[in-house]
Amino acid sequence: METLDPRTIMLMTTLMCGAMSVVMFSVYRSFRREVHGLGHWSAGLLLLVCASFLFGARGSLPDAVALLGANVTLMLGIGLSMLGTEKFYEQAPSLRFYLAACCLGTAGIAWWLLATPDFSRRVAVFSCIVFFFYARQAQLVYAYGERHFSSLFFGSLMLVQAGVVLARGCSALLHGGTSVDLLVTGTLASIYLAVANFMALLLTVGFMTVATRRLQMILERRSTHDPLTQVLNRRGFGDVYEREKANSRRNLRPLTLLSIDLDFFKSINDRYGHATGDKVLAHVATIIGGALRESDCVARFGGEEFIVLMPDMAPHNALGVAERIRALLREPNGRGLPPCTVSIGIACQASVQEELDQLLSRADAALYQAKENGRDRIEVDVCEVTTVVRTTSAAGSDTRR
Ligand code: GH3
Ligand code: MG
Ligand code: MG
Repeated sequence: METLDPRTIMLMTTLMCGAMSVVMFSVYRSFRREVHGLGHWSAGLLLLVCASFLFGARGSLPDAVALLGANVTLMLGIGLSMLGTEKFYEQAPSLRFYLAACCLGTAGIAWWLLATPDFSRRVAVFSCIVFFFYARQAQLVYAYGERHFSSLFFGSLMLVQAGVVLARGCSALLHGGTSVDLLVTGTLASIYLAVANFMALLLTVGFMTVATRRLQMILERRSTHDPLTQVLNRRGFGDVYEREKANSRRNLRPLTLLSIDLDFFKSINDRYGHATGDKVLAHVATIIGGALRESDCVARFGGEEFIVLMPDMAPHNALGVAERIRALLREPNGRGLPPCTVSIGIACQASVQEELDQLLSRADAALYQAKENGRDRIEVDVCEVTTVVRTTSAAGSDTRR
């Protein structure tokens, strides 16, 4: 059938692979820091295009150049995609394996092309090498892939491709070369042709799917987390608060909030510089996070103010956590950072009607009181208790209000 002319299909796939290589390259240029392996995939696709042109040049070029060149280029291209997938999953690229496999493959193909021509053995060697490249990628997705549709899609494609390549290699050895010659019409050959060509494209789409998913997660994290301290930002905190508020209403459990502000932080900046100030902020975020339970969450609300949300925690218990944060901050940090203290205000969700802004302003009022009373101390919102439970001034004296 004219529409199934092998050369036309190959040409179409080649053009599409070229286009995908450009797409991959432009994504690589924009997101090379965030998503690794895109460059290898882009280069791999380009090699696939070159291989197709070399195949097409059979007849015009000597076999040693056209066929050998095409096979080796194809092998190198598919191998590059393997290195790219390894980089994508943050694994050290297996360069030695790649080079050894390509050298071995080249030697085998050259031998059975030039010394003792044997098409089926050539196909078997090529299939064996690329089978390992595909199988390694399927294994990577299985071991490190996220449990998500994108990984399932990409991993399944890799597995199918590895299976098809293996079947082609075995078929070439068992039934002879004509059974797998892509340019000879026949049922098996047609299947191989369709799979080999469209899989190259589908695999690229598969990789783009996992890469896009990775990018989506990175961007989502960026929009909800503070880059300096890696804790939640105001937006991320808002989502968590709404979820926890609904939980606490359902389970009739208290929801307590700490408002934490560094004392005289401006003078730390002035004395040690802004960069050291940043390190202090990151250190304080780590200390706060370390003092909390898994279910608690911490956010940075701009500047040098942190907010902690503690589900299922009564204010008097929250006081213990606040004390722990202060105690941990008093310990030597071992990183040569200047010591710092914090003032903390505590407030508890008063009713289901209360909004985050109201709860925050009550915690801030308590914090303001702590600042007023001399800093480096903890105050509980007046609506919760009428007694200041503890004063933690440097002198260590307790006060009441
Ligand atoms: P107080 O005890 O009353 O809270 O005094 P303070 O100096 O901590 O408070 P003030 O509001 O006067 O100063 C806050 C400082 O925090 C001023 C600003 O330069 C600094 N700051 C805000 N954001 C950052 C940041 O991202 N990095 C650094 N290094 N400093 C910051
Ligand atoms: Mg401050
Ligand atoms: Mg402040």
